[in-house]
Amino acid sequence: MKAIVVQELGGPEVLQVQTIPVPSVRKGQVLLKVSSVGLNFADILAVRGEYLTRTRTPYTPGMEFSGVVAAVGEGVTHLKEGQLVAALGGSGAFAEYATVQAAACLPIPANLNGREAAALPVSFYTAYFALKTLGRVQEKEVVWVEAAAGALGTASIQLAKAMNCTVIATASSTAKLELAKSLGADATFLGDDSELRQKILEFAPNGVDVYLSVAGGHGFSDRLSVMNNLGRVMVIGNASRESAELNPTMLMKKNVSVIGVWLTPFMGNSAEMIAASQFIYPLLESGKAKPQVGEVFSLETAGKAFDFVFSRASTGKVLIEPSGA
Ligand code: NDP
Repeated sequence: MKAIVVQELGGPEVLQVQTIPVPSVRKGQVLLKVSSVGLNFADILAVRGEYLTRTRTPYTPGMEFSGVVAAVGEGVTHLKEGQLVAALGGSGAFAEYATVQAAACLPIPANLNGREAAALPVSFYTAYFALKTLGRVQEKEVVWVEAAAGALGTASIQLAKAMNCTVIATASSTAKLELAKSLGADATFLGDDSELRQKILEFAPNGVDVYLSVAGGHGFSDRLSVMNNLGRVMVIGNASRESAELNPTMLMKKNVSVIGVWLTPFMGNSAEMIAASQFIYPLLESGKAKPQVGEVFSLETAGKAFDFVFSRASTGKVLIEPSGA
């Protein structure tokens, strides 16, 4: 089969398409014929050796994907050949076939296609854990979604609206703000607007209750000045890849909390995953929420997909398809 094999860490140039054997399915696993792979910042950082966990080479990236079950390993009873599923975790999806633990497969509602299925797991589960599990968001609270037209941002807007919150969305272009608005954002502002703080406080005079922070960088500390009393700042990403400074005493005045968010530890916690699914799946099935699919690339052009995401030009989830897009 065709697969991307990373021999050495680096930028898009290290993504080499090679022909390697189809992996054999082990006990408790399924073999999936890969349909679409969600490209995450985490994949790009892991290939560069800059992610939260150490990357061991050689390896095939790709930890979020949809696929059709091609073979079922011993002991797997709840999945059958021909079934479309989404998978979350591990690596190896930048390939025509990938094996995955059966427990890491999510069933797909009939109204989602393979592309939407691949765009689902990371963004929707991270958004849920950030908003609800860790952010303890309540109805009518004000949520600020940053990078609102991105994969995580579009999922966050939809889930926050389904939780009956007021959503402020920021992004870097008016086209991105239009997308955020179409998904239900109540107020939209350009993220680099010099009057952003004033505009947010005009819209929400008490300030922001839950801020989903993904850009990080030099402006991080200043952005916290819009927080409401008892506000929660959810540190989900550092897309700017700049360092940020925070004077902790500024948190005291309004009892503001800064909380780190990482999806990976939740993936092994079945009670938390089930709680999230019970909220997310009815929204998907009823059409009230939909994973947003962005540009689609092939294995051969995966490097361009990496550049595209870093260029801030993408909206929704950028996908890579082994069958060629
Ligand atoms: P997106 O598709 O949202 O793309 C990233 C967005 O970040 C860009 O579109 C851009 O939006 C914004 N951004 C701000 N500054 C920069 C910059 N200097 N370079 C590039 N982008 C920038 O990606 P994801 O939805 O996949 O992820 C968003 C963030 O959330 C990432 O930092 C990612 O690492 C993190 N994340 C964390 C998870 C966790 O478990 N903690 C899980 C999933 C994602 P704009 O142009 O509008 O500013």
